[in-house]
Amino acid sequence: MTFESLGLHPQIIKALTDAGYTEPTPVQAQAVPAAIAGRDLLVSSQTGSGKTAAFMLPSLHKFASAAAEGSAGKTPNQQAQAARARGERPRFAPAQPKMLVLTPTRELALQVTTATDKYSTQMRRVKAVSILGGMPYPKQMQLLARNPEILVATPGRLIDHMESGKIDFSQLEILVLDEADRMLDMGFIEDIELIVSRTPETRQTMLFSATLDGMVGNIARRITKDPQLIQISGSSTRHENIQQRVHFVDDLLHKNRLLDHLLRDVAIDQAVVFTATKRDADTIADRLNIAGFAAAALHGDMHQGARNRTLNAMRNGQVRVLVATDVAARGIDVPGITHVFNFDLPKFAEDYVHRIGRTGRAGRKGIAVSLVNHAEGVHVKRIERFTKQSIPVDVIEGYEPRKSAAPRARPGWKPGDGRKQGSGGKPGQRTFAKPGAPRKDGGGYRGNREGGRSDGRRG
Ligand code: AMP
Repeated sequence: MTFESLGLHPQIIKALTDAGYTEPTPVQAQAVPAAIAGRDLLVSSQTGSGKTAAFMLPSLHKFASAAAEGSAGKTPNQQAQAARARGERPRFAPAQPKMLVLTPTRELALQVTTATDKYSTQMRRVKAVSILGGMPYPKQMQLLARNPEILVATPGRLIDHMESGKIDFSQLEILVLDEADRMLDMGFIEDIELIVSRTPETRQTMLFSATLDGMVGNIARRITKDPQLIQISGSSTRHENIQQRVHFVDDLLHKNRLLDHLLRDVAIDQAVVFTATKRDADTIADRLNIAGFAAAALHGDMHQGARNRTLNAMRNGQVRVLVATDVAARGIDVPGITHVFNFDLPKFAEDYVHRIGRTGRAGRKGIAVSLVNHAEGVHVKRIERFTKQSIPVDVIEGYEPRKSAAPRARPGWKPGDGRKQGSGGKPGQRTFAKPGAPRKDGGGYRGNREGGRSDGRRG
């Protein structure tokens, strides 16, 4: 399938070709034609599936087609100019966006804006801006004064501007809720309902979410009209391009030693280490820096400027190990991330899926390793039930857990060398069997995941 066959405007096709996209991803192949036909959409898909383009391409198509027909109305700035020409004093003109994308986090909002800029390079008169908490108000006022066609926003700050009359949604044509499940998890339900209530009934609504069950399903039904349901197969939660494994640890010391060892793997281009708390993210990033890794922390207590600088440093390769909490890392899209480490297991199985999806972006391969206290075996089981996959248990010689029922060490590994011995794999590069695949060396990924001691920390 080609982008041309989806019926997209030539200006968009040109931008996609320049971006190096050769064919639509499955979610794009289904969502784009339906959205161009004007349907509301309910889409279950993950980040990494190409979902941003799935809602942005048909929307840009609509704007490009309207511009070609000359149907674009007068912008508030043009109205103000016309008023001045008539010798009248122009009234304060609020921004009147045509499209609103709501996202749970600032990082995701910035990514959506960047992607929009990329997809609209060939179009004149399409501006996308982010309206985010943490950004100075004067700067946002400047952005709004440009009367952008597309607003990408986190709910709280958007409501501030709505209430102070800086934004008027009466001209809104398209509303997108991106990662709706996450927005609801973060307690944005009332904000979302308020925002939706200020938009015209005639709008087109597209809702993207990892799941369409429960509360998301309820709100989805309320805000859409005769929506087309698009469910991208289980691979979105299965992450089949990502090899997953679990290492059991006895205590915090063991966990730290193992993490340091694993991070010395030469196959790692860049890695994200997930922690349960912001404080742990800082502490571990400091410790890794002292140990000689180019590490940086990313969490919600950091100012937006610092978060952006850290993410840019990650994108341009200055940071090799990002130590992050769930919310801060949500939606991060850095192609160089080859490995994800769960220093602590996430509270929810859904978060596990989101976390490991930071690697293996756009069809690449990735490796996800969880460091698990013996008492947390039950959480691993929960994740396995959710993803309908078993996660192999692995042991590295010299880093075995003391617990007697632990799986045997993999033969051929020397403590501290981070290398696989024998045939298969590039020298100095670790290779791992596919999850669930029989072990060639007969070591087996068996392990007793229940009971035993814990390091007493929350996973
Ligand atoms: P998303 O799921 O929107 O976060 O997109 C994940 C990554 O896939 C981003 O880096 C996009 O630039 C990339 N991407 C999206 N669509 C395509 C496509 N059709 N071909 C290649 N890469 C794509």
